[in-house]
Amino acid sequence: MSAQQRRFPFDRLRQKFDETERRCRQCGFVDDDGGWRVRTSGDRVTYQHVCPSCDAIETRELRL
Ligand SMILES: [Zn+2]
Repeated sequence: MSAQQRRFPFDRLRQKFDETERRCRQCGFVDDDGGWRVRTSGDRVTYQHVCPSCDAIETRELRL
């Protein structure tokens, strides 16, 4: 599988998170400019978002 083929679904998923998960669960801050960092390891994709207001870390993990 080429790098380009692998990247595509990650970008799609990240876009989905960006649209729906911008509000911090801890303090309610809406991070309009923020996004999710994506990390991959093996067959898992881990998304992480750090709230710029209270530093709460939100994590999602998906299996490919
Ligand atoms: Zn927060």
